Amino acid sequence: MISNDIQGIGMTSQRTRDRLVDRLREKGIKNERVLEVVRTTPRHIFVDEAMAHRAYEDTALPIGHGQTISQPYIVARMTEILLEDGIPDVVLEVGTGSGYQSAILSRLVPKVYTVERISALLQKAREAHRKMGLMNVFSKHSDGSWGWAPNAPYQAIMVTAAPESVPPSLLEQLAVGGRLVIPVGTKDGVQQLKLYVRTNEGIEETTKESVRFVPLLDGAVR
Ligand code: SAH
Repeated sequence: MISNDIQGIGMTSQRTRDRLVDRLREKGIKNERVLEVVRTTPRHIFVDEAMAHRAYEDTALPIGHGQTISQPYIVARMTEILLEDGIPDVVLEVGTGSGYQSAILSRLVPKVYTVERISALLQKAREAHRKMGLMNVFSKHSDGSWGWAPNAPYQAIMVTAAPESVPPSLLEQLAVGGRLVIPVGTKDGVQQLKLYVRTNEGIEETTKESVRFVPLLDGAVR
């Protein structure tokens, strides 16, 4: 029996979640706060019930509409990179998807804004956030390439879908000292995880590692 409850049993139990965190540690995740939040966040409520038994495997899983919930390793890695320099007041996430990454962020920072272009996915993500009782995630149905201007500038922006080049609006909405973590590359080719930091002099770019994300697409859809 697979329970969709937050607590989880069998393949969604705390023991299964602990094993996932052991794996992330083996793969090089070092930030203990991030590991603890992964350990205590129920990933199985962010996937369909039929997929729940695989929720604590370190793998991306389909969430419908041709999209995926990101692999736990990459969620932890991007979070670790984003928070390397301290805890920002606010994070903007582009690509809500299942809502799992924003749930992880919401337990580490005071406030999370997240934008998703597929309305049906956003509704489900909001429902999962409600189930978890998260009160500090604010979401919007829109094309996130344009960022979320009224709340800018941001100390931290995370993009969880890959554009071929960085959307200029996201760099513009970055505060001085602010960090943008984003996969960049083509749909079927190589993508690199990049970190952009705004300094007083301009933008510093660092390449982190090769990754594989769904593409960042234009426009918002039902
Ligand atoms: N962070 C998500 C990952 C989902 S996959 C999670 O934790 O599950 C990436 C998501 O980005 C998909 O849901 C896709 O619809 C969305 N996306 C792609 N292009 C977008 C855009 N321009 N604006 C907002 N969301 C976008």
